Amino acid sequence: MEKDPIKRALELRTTLIKGDKVLVADLKDTLQGRDTSKVVDLMPIVGTVNYPFRTKVNIKQLDPLASEEYGTEFFDVTKHTSEEIEAFTRQQEFDFPLWFKNDDNFNMKQVQHYNLPFILQVAGCNFHDGSASGGCTYCFVDNESNDGQPGKGKVFLGINETIDSMVSARKKIQSQYADVGFDMDLKVLRTSGGEPTIALDWILNTWREIGNRDLDYVGQMDSNLSTGRLVDDFERRGIFEPNTLEKLAKYPVKILTALKGVDNENIQNNVQSSTQLADQEYSLRKIVGAGFDIFPQMYNPNPETLPAYLERMDEIIENLSLRIHIGPLKAYGPTTKRLTLGAEKLGKDPTEFIDAQKKTWDSNYEKGCEVLDTYLRKRHGVGYKEVTRADVPVKLK
Ligand code: SF4
Repeated sequence: MEKDPIKRALELRTTLIKGDKVLVADLKDTLQGRDTSKVVDLMPIVGTVNYPFRTKVNIKQLDPLASEEYGTEFFDVTKHTSEEIEAFTRQQEFDFPLWFKNDDNFNMKQVQHYNLPFILQVAGCNFHDGSASGGCTYCFVDNESNDGQPGKGKVFLGINETIDSMVSARKKIQSQYADVGFDMDLKVLRTSGGEPTIALDWILNTWREIGNRDLDYVGQMDSNLSTGRLVDDFERRGIFEPNTLEKLAKYPVKILTALKGVDNENIQNNVQSSTQLADQEYSLRKIVGAGFDIFPQMYNPNPETLPAYLERMDEIIENLSLRIHIGPLKAYGPTTKRLTLGAEKLGKDPTEFIDAQKKTWDSNYEKGCEVLDTYLRKRHGVGYKEVTRADVPVKLK
């Protein structure tokens, strides 16, 4: 029997928080750290030898260093109009910089300032059961970074340490890009994971401190949409203060709401946990109801049940389908390792098992995009990725 995600989250809460610190992954010496530090090095907690911060160039083409590293054509924002930049960014796999389009201070001609988030990873996820092959089948986080156990490869991180480290990294990155004549800034603090909502109190207090210091940061937070009931429970028991989500929603934080499946079988196969579609729906309602701007990212949907799912979601949250992006899945280092262990457990040949998995992911991605496009044209009169997500109002019906 797969693990109950709420029970697992309760277990994790006891190991992920110590005093006013949260346990995060230290990415040095990890496969994920190597995968994600090709353009900008991992970043330390200032004054220490711990490296829990990374960045990721979301849109390689908008970045001269990433374009060179990854062999993509450089899209120079200084040579394009705001409309051209927006249209280009909207079409990309990670349109993240455009999430902030309607925020104060956003300038389309400096969209690149939102393209390099400063990322930390809460070191435990409630879809990860603590075993060597736990978590979503396609998860790109190393097993050791996601099992919630303090020790090697983890570090407890304080709020001021986080902000001081981002201030220091910002200066370094500005200068790294200035050396190649490029105007770059680091504006986005992304709390990823793992499952950040297990440490929502820490995140709220971090934003309070960012506010106290009057820093012009904006935020992204990820959620796997399984913890709405957990937040209720923590508020009831005084672990979180009342209305934690509502209080956090007052800050400029956007939420990447991960849609891990579109029917119960689909979701449970993807995440290896006994979570239900009803949990996803409840969590989504709670987050939107709290006032957050959400950006749903769907992974490995079942194309057969996707149309009915989209209908239902649009009945719950107005225009939700216009906000959905479907993400292609790639087998990064940690993914391959997890799938290899999964194959061995089932007594299957790992290479064949991984190839079959990749084929399914690719097929579901392609078909899923077609289904979504057809649905959007019929229901809303526009195609997939034809509107900027931040311009689509979402509200509970
Ligand atoms: S929800 Fe995210 S962090 Fe958790 S196992 Fe899945 S992909 Fe990994």
